[in-house]
Amino acid sequence: MPGGVSGNLRYFAPYPLYMAQGSGCTTVDVDGNEYIDCFCCNGPLLLGHRPNALSTVADKIEAAGALLVNPTLMIECAEALKRVIPCAEQVRFLNSGTEAVMTAVRCARAFTGKDNVVKFYGHYHGQDDQFLLGLSPTRAAFGAGVPNAHFANTLTLPFNNIAAFEKLMREREDIACVILDPAMHSGGLWGASKDFLIAVRDATRKAGVVLIFDEVITGFRMGLGGAQEYYGVTPDMTTLAKALAAGEKLGAVVGSADIMAVFDPLAPASPRAFQSGTANDGSGALTAALGAITEYERLAAEGRYQLLWWQVEQFDTALREIAEAASIPLTTNRLCSMMQLFHSRRPGSFESYSGLNNAVLELFYLALINEGVLLSLPTSNHIYFSFAHDEGAFATILQAVTAALEKYPFQAAFAEIIQ
Ligand code: PMP
Repeated sequence: MPGGVSGNLRYFAPYPLYMAQGSGCTTVDVDGNEYIDCFCCNGPLLLGHRPNALSTVADKIEAAGALLVNPTLMIECAEALKRVIPCAEQVRFLNSGTEAVMTAVRCARAFTGKDNVVKFYGHYHGQDDQFLLGLSPTRAAFGAGVPNAHFANTLTLPFNNIAAFEKLMREREDIACVILDPAMHSGGLWGASKDFLIAVRDATRKAGVVLIFDEVITGFRMGLGGAQEYYGVTPDMTTLAKALAAGEKLGAVVGSADIMAVFDPLAPASPRAFQSGTANDGSGALTAALGAITEYERLAAEGRYQLLWWQVEQFDTALREIAEAASIPLTTNRLCSMMQLFHSRRPGSFESYSGLNNAVLELFYLALINEGVLLSLPTSNHIYFSFAHDEGAFATILQAVTAALEKYPFQAAFAEIIQ
């Protein structure tokens, strides 16, 4: 396996961890070391490892088989999504966030008859060629192997900039859709401003452009109804994956019925777009999704989202206080149950922070691993808390931070590369 891993993100120097099992908010490596897991496999484990809500997955596969054509389970699952996601009038299931994004964009192009897509700098939308650019504040390609021609229909704009967005919408009439990750997670968790989302909603509606929220990360995490419920702005279409099936492999595209009719074999002839996938109806993933959504509904009804966000806020404050007391220049971005760290004293932005040298931050994450806390994979800087993180877990993480800062000369190391 290249790098000994099944995805570039999973590798970090000097060597990656290999995990043997997980339970609640902890995970255990193959050497038997236990960690509090705040990486949560890059987001999906919002219910923690092996949650009760997923305990029927194996039974369902045993009883029904792994894959059936049109199982009624998919209808139950689609109905659950309609209940909780504001824009969900219709649903298609697939296997990953990448596929969901590809499908939503194809749907928008078929519906509008136009080719161009607007994405924002710092937003990651999966592995499809047309979106592997603009992860930094430039149009640079993200890695080799993507022909420039694949970027020809992808327009890029700065996020949260109403003037730049409205200008583009005035100038162009060839735009099929606008896609955005409301948390701007990959770019450093610079969440959307509500005013920006309202302006984008208004301008796209006026121009007949399809608005897609990529809620692969924010779905179920920024509340039961995701970012669209959190901000009170409803897009035309939404992509979901990650927490949708709480660790099982499932993606979905949901959206307005008139747009998604391009996939409907019963709708009047044209336009008709193709969408299909061999494993779209997997019993395990659909059972997990149904169990997870039902559990999110229960947690939302009990006010547990607010409680988790409050716990993360307290944790964030305590973490910054510990760093401050140790003269470590650390700032944090936090949104609901997500966090990212930056070694800087200055309040920043996506643009000003994207050039930061993360070498010492990576060592900080490694030091925490030695203290039994997987706060993030060192190279990813993605921190996610789950409903399985209790008060004791947060306290243990803070103790580990204190211990790591006492044991290693972080103050000198950070001071050397501070910008
Ligand atoms: N969209 C967003 C916002 C993502 O963060 C990701 C993955 N991190 C994807 C799409 C792609 O999802 P997947 O890895 O399931 O293909």
